[in-house]
Amino acid sequence: REKAEKFTFQTEVNRMMKLIINSLYRNKEIFLRELISNASDAIDKIRLLALSNSKELDSNPELHIRIKADKENKALHIMDSGIGMTHQDLINNLGTIAKSGTADFLAKMQDPSKSEGLDMNDMIGQFGVGFYSAFLVADRVVVTTKHNDDKQYIWESDANSFSIIEDPRGDTLKRGSVISLYLKEEAQDFLEEDTVRELIRKYSQFINFPIRMWSSKTVEEEVPVEEEAKPEKSEDDVEDEDAKVEEAEDEKPKTKKVSKTTWDWTLINDSKPIWTRKPAEVNEDEYTSFYKSLTKDSSEPLTQTHFIAEGEVTFKSLLYVPKVQPSESFNRYGTKSDNIKLYVRRVFITDEFNDMMPNYLSFIRGVVDSDDLPLNVSRETLQQHKLIKVIKKKLVRKVLDMLKKIDKEAYEKFWKEFSTNIKLGVMEDPSNRSRLAKLLRFQTSNGKGVTSLAEYKERMKGKQEHIYYIAGANRAEVEKSPFVERLLSKGYEVLYLVEAVDEYCISALPEFDGKKFQNVAKEGFQLNESEKSKKNFESLKSTFEPLVKWLNDVALKDQISKAQVSERLSNSPCALVAGVFGWTGNMERLAMSNAH
Ligand code: ADP
Ligand code: MG
Repeated sequence: REKAEKFTFQTEVNRMMKLIINSLYRNKEIFLRELISNASDAIDKIRLLALSNSKELDSNPELHIRIKADKENKALHIMDSGIGMTHQDLINNLGTIAKSGTADFLAKMQDPSKSEGLDMNDMIGQFGVGFYSAFLVADRVVVTTKHNDDKQYIWESDANSFSIIEDPRGDTLKRGSVISLYLKEEAQDFLEEDTVRELIRKYSQFINFPIRMWSSKTVEEEVPVEEEAKPEKSEDDVEDEDAKVEEAEDEKPKTKKVSKTTWDWTLINDSKPIWTRKPAEVNEDEYTSFYKSLTKDSSEPLTQTHFIAEGEVTFKSLLYVPKVQPSESFNRYGTKSDNIKLYVRRVFITDEFNDMMPNYLSFIRGVVDSDDLPLNVSRETLQQHKLIKVIKKKLVRKVLDMLKKIDKEAYEKFWKEFSTNIKLGVMEDPSNRSRLAKLLRFQTSNGKGVTSLAEYKERMKGKQEHIYYIAGANRAEVEKSPFVERLLSKGYEVLYLVEAVDEYCISALPEFDGKKFQNVAKEGFQLNESEKSKKNFESLKSTFEPLVKWLNDVALKDQISKAQVSERLSNSPCALVAGVFGWTGNMERLAMSNAH
């Protein structure tokens, strides 16, 4: 121990460990989820390296995870044949916080305005504080690790500081890591075989490598009953075969049953990835559990789609819509990672392409796995691969299909969370504009709820050529707008665009199903009226010509660009209208409020 180098943790790590250790976190078992997931990541990494240099695997070709409880020493060991850590890795990875998710966790915990109302329990579970969660159950953690490029080292910590020493036993691991947890008094249950087995089952269900547990099996064995020495076999017995058989049939076997305990590595999980199974053979519960393990989201997904795409490129994919918009901490303060994991031939490649989904669909979670992509190229080359473009295009189509199929009740929930995403999609994704338009919902003069454009179109009056809308700050404001009055009094329906992006979204839509949109607050808007009312309007125009002239030339000369007789009003005497090419009042309001 004298040779051990001593290190102090980065201040942030120290603070976080204090939080973890002192927390009354109930759900301490998640440490195993975190350590299994690190083991799996480490194996992913060596497998990925081996794609460009197969020699990397030679040090230990078997890729697996093993877990062993050692009651005598009150220790739980989690072993993997993954990439391992060099001396420098140990300092960097297990002494500082490299991961932005964890840093964000800390920021939230530290800032009282942000942590208010946040439950420490939810926080640890959601953020998954990773390796350091080992200290939820252990007061001493020892990591023994061997990386191909370095010697074998032992890292050890009591959560206050850590030390690193070259392993005096030599390179016994060949390659990989052993995380040894010396369990706290109150965490001794994690040494019990049944407890550990259940936990591994729970957290390894979707790990793509075999996980084995050191476990005992009690077997009943038939052992011969020890008897007085039998008489020596005589020459006669050997010769008289028939007689011998008869004798054997007569005799009861002289054995007894004895319980014997044997120890062995027992396989706990089925490491066949869920997305490679036939959709018809996966049940709803399995989809939900996979979603939870993929996202760490504690609630179930809103919906999912699982499919095999064929054609120019063949790939399998499983995509989910979460119930709620992922919080800012996941989205914006960008952990670099994508919400889509890319696999090639079951080998995890990356979740860092960041553009597997267009921006407006960044809330979609899931996996994509293709046999048609090359394995032995760099990620950069892969990202530029022409088939990736094809896959991305298909993924968007599949997502839009999935959204279209959500039933009415669930769609309301979806719309509450993700309406802005869809509207941004209409603006950003011209090639899917008409598909996206079908997903839009707006408030309307026809009832309290929202309506789709297709429903609006169905209710349109016989000669109505346009879809009418008005934009404003809120429903109350647009409802009593004079522009709407006349239309409502004639029994037309008007869409109320009361969200900031609504009007921009509609402006990006040239039409819906053959019907153009008409802002009822814009100049040039005319109702299709009968000959009689046209004549009536003409005579009104001439009657009021002197007034209009006076307003234009004298009274409001500097305030307005034009005064004219309007068809649009029924009860109000006058209204301010935006010009055909001008900003609408609503857009002006938004622009003004943005400027301030
Ligand atoms: P994350 O897994 O999100 O990166 P963790 O706190 O769980 O964060 O782990 C920190 C880092 O420690 C990992 O990124 C990895 O580099 C390293 N690490 C942890 N466990 C292992 C392991 N079993 N084998 C190799 N490296 C590991
Ligand atoms: Mg981790």
